[in-house]
Amino acid sequence: MTDWSSIESKWRKIWHDEKYFEAELSSQKKFFVTVAYPYPNSPQHIGHGRTYTLADVHARFMRMRGYNVLFPMGFHYTGTPILGMARRVQENDKELIEAFKTLYKVPEKNIKEFSEPVKIADYFHQEIKSGMLEMGYSIDWRREFTTIDPVYNKFIEWQFRKLKNKNLVIQGSHPVGWCPRDQNPVSQHDTLGDVEPSFTEYILIKFRHEKYIIPTATLRPETIFGVTNLWINPEVTYKIASVDNETWIVSTECARKLEFLDKKVKVIDEIKGSEIVGKKVKVPDRNEEIVIFPASFVKSENGTGIVMSVPAHAPFDYQALEDIKKSNNNQNLVSIAKSILPISIIQTDGYGEIPAKEVTERFQIENQNSPELEEATKELYAKEFYGGKLKQNTGKFAQKTVVEAKEEVKKWIIQNKNADILFELNDGPIRCRCGSECVVKLLKNQWFLDYSNKKWKDETHLWINEMKILPEEIRGEFNYVVDWLRERACARQHGLGTKLPWDKDWIIESLSDSVIYMAYYILAKYVNEKQLVAENLGDEFFDYIFLGEGDSKKIASSSKISCDILENIKNEFQYFYPVNARHSGRDLVPNHLTFFVFNHIAIFPKKYWPEEIVVNGSVLMEGKKMSKSMGNIIPLRDAIRTHGADPIRLAILISAELLQDADFNLEAVRGIKNKLENMLDECSKYKPDQSNNLEQEDKWLKSRLQQLVLEITSAMEKMRLREALHYVLYQFDSDIQWYLKRAEAKNRKDITSTLHEIFSARVAMLSPFAPHIAEEMWQKLGKLGVVSKSLWPSVLEDKIDVAALQSENLLKSTLEDIKNILKVTKILPKRIIIYTSDSWKTKAYQKILSSVIKGEMNIGVLIKSLIADKDTENVKKYPDFVKKTINDILSEPVESRESKAKSDLVDEKKILSEIESLVQKEFGVEVEVFAESDPQKYDPKNKARTARPFKPAILIE
Ligand SMILES: [Zn+2]
Repeated sequence: MTDWSSIESKWRKIWHDEKYFEAELSSQKKFFVTVAYPYPNSPQHIGHGRTYTLADVHARFMRMRGYNVLFPMGFHYTGTPILGMARRVQENDKELIEAFKTLYKVPEKNIKEFSEPVKIADYFHQEIKSGMLEMGYSIDWRREFTTIDPVYNKFIEWQFRKLKNKNLVIQGSHPVGWCPRDQNPVSQHDTLGDVEPSFTEYILIKFRHEKYIIPTATLRPETIFGVTNLWINPEVTYKIASVDNETWIVSTECARKLEFLDKKVKVIDEIKGSEIVGKKVKVPDRNEEIVIFPASFVKSENGTGIVMSVPAHAPFDYQALEDIKKSNNNQNLVSIAKSILPISIIQTDGYGEIPAKEVTERFQIENQNSPELEEATKELYAKEFYGGKLKQNTGKFAQKTVVEAKEEVKKWIIQNKNADILFELNDGPIRCRCGSECVVKLLKNQWFLDYSNKKWKDETHLWINEMKILPEEIRGEFNYVVDWLRERACARQHGLGTKLPWDKDWIIESLSDSVIYMAYYILAKYVNEKQLVAENLGDEFFDYIFLGEGDSKKIASSSKISCDILENIKNEFQYFYPVNARHSGRDLVPNHLTFFVFNHIAIFPKKYWPEEIVVNGSVLMEGKKMSKSMGNIIPLRDAIRTHGADPIRLAILISAELLQDADFNLEAVRGIKNKLENMLDECSKYKPDQSNNLEQEDKWLKSRLQQLVLEITSAMEKMRLREALHYVLYQFDSDIQWYLKRAEAKNRKDITSTLHEIFSARVAMLSPFAPHIAEEMWQKLGKLGVVSKSLWPSVLEDKIDVAALQSENLLKSTLEDIKNILKVTKILPKRIIIYTSDSWKTKAYQKILSSVIKGEMNIGVLIKSLIADKDTENVKKYPDFVKKTINDILSEPVESRESKAKSDLVDEKKILSEIESLVQKEFGVEVEVFAESDPQKYDPKNKARTARPFKPAILIE
């Protein structure tokens, strides 16, 4: 039995003692890998392991490729969730305390201290760090820090003063996602399910009925000119409320939303929707009254719970009107409905007078509750938005495009006091971690990062289109986020973190103090060595280190450090920056990762902007989403204790490529563990000292090694780790199996030197994935030093022996063919005869192959040209030779076609003479090989004539 735990701790100690992962300034080329630092409010589970493991594999791979790799780690204490937990501990919250005890296994004495937020953070910080150590991450721990360290605070103050000087931090009133209970803005870290709250701005158009205002929410204010009626849900009870000195009728949900948008809302009374049906309202700026109709598609939680109807351009409205006409509603209503004609106000290419009618008919909508209506609506809105123009009946907006008119109508109608603004959360309801439902709040006099700034946005777009993003398919998502981002609250009233330097009542929030901290890793080492002291550091220090500005002597003296140290820090920063690869989960695309790019652009010169972002999907547990309620969250450290770190690393990586969800399952872990243990056993068997004669199969296996190194390296460069791992674990195995089969059939004893070479390269390529066991294998192979610091195998293309590859393929496929024939015919073989094809066929094959490679596959033309050549004219006697040969060629991979075309054809008769030992071993019978042209051949069934190059004919008796 392999003792994983002692193997792992042995190698970890060696790495640590020998300082293998401590990166210093050097003349070597560098690679700086970072991954989003953890928020220590719980232990890590298997799901967290994915991003860190990916980053570690990346770091280890680049190290082996000769880079001086810096892979550091910090801990993010900033924010409110830890504060909330501490409060719940103070309140003696049973559920939370129970979770600490049983789920997180926190000792009793620690839980007692958890009423203090920092104690929670410190405890889980150490817990997470231990897990990272146990996973074998190749982190330079000298650079560890937390975001409440005093020097870090100074660094963030510097960052914020820089942003403010560039007018990127502004004070104003802007909408934010908000928790009414905590009285704090919310971001992804604060919500249940980690949803980033985003919202949409709606225009409230005010329709008037007597003394009441009946507002409707719309994204398309320009369609006000096409309104024919309103919709209300008769089943819903509405509120009559005084809103800033007007009397509004809105749904209960809407009344609540309005309160947070800086309006004085006082509910006066209630009214049932059905009581409003049939009433008339005045359309703003149009001397006309329209009727309120009932409709079931209207939902109280959307907008105001009342909707304006534009049947010419809105499929829902068109259909609901049709529904009423067919209903047995009040006859008066039905006849009014029948008299309503849609008012067409937008002209769009491809549509006639009433576009909504056209799409509802095309989608074969049955009624207003048909699910396809959403799609019909989306299609028409998009077409009209991008291609529509307003018609003559829209007054001064006539002839404007919809894009232009939308903004202008909005301004005009708000100026005339006929409209207002409503913000609504997208994909609601969203809940805060405290359980309250989040809202959009118009926050006044708050500090915002101005992600609406056009110049900033443009520059960020440009860089996002230029930088490396893996996988490529996620680049569009980044651009989308850059577009919709707007002013974002960057300070909170509570929480751990750094105070806003010019307004100490505010604390900088967690997604704003975590955007350029990768630069801080350079300082952290000096802070931990006690060379840097917070109170001595002013902005001029950071300007000097990060921007190269200022006078070094003055700065050294004001910072109370020597000039040498100051220079060292600056040189180290200039050496390691920019970040070469930033790893993170996909959930951080809409916030952290995008902010990271924005802020680097704002603060640093272009040469320090991040080079690459690598995004990964999440982890499923046995095919299911991990969640507390499912009880399927496995703490990482528990899993390491049970299965070992390497099997877990591999199990997480092998089931999926970057963006897919990885599936962690115990069967895979066990399978991988076995595989690694077998490999370890193998490694003890092979020694380098014994030299052996290179026979055909040795040349073949060495050529396969070159091909595999090529494939694996290229997969690693694209972070296609699943693919790389499959080659390392399984493709190697199947090649080695074939080699052993060949060697055994020949009773060879001198194979360990070849296998030693193969295993050495294989173990090296395994080591980024399974670093501990790979070290153990490396040692068993008798290699010097540690594999973690060895060089990645290089590809020597001239070591690829094409003839050997072709020969072994011929042997393999012939043996395969024999097996298949036996399987189908079920005969017990007494003797096997193989016929290799005539030499004219070989010439014909070469011609056909070169035509196929050129893409010329017309059989008639090919046959003609072959017949015209004396060497190959025989083809006329074998009518289907050409077609079958084309099929043979097409069933092969393109690379092998090309290598065949480039090389001389092999002597099949000679190669197949080697099949004897294999057939003897496998089937226990004799084999004879004849050339098709051999007049002496034994060929009772006239089989020889069907032989083709690489496809010998086979007779079994
Ligand atoms: Zn809350």
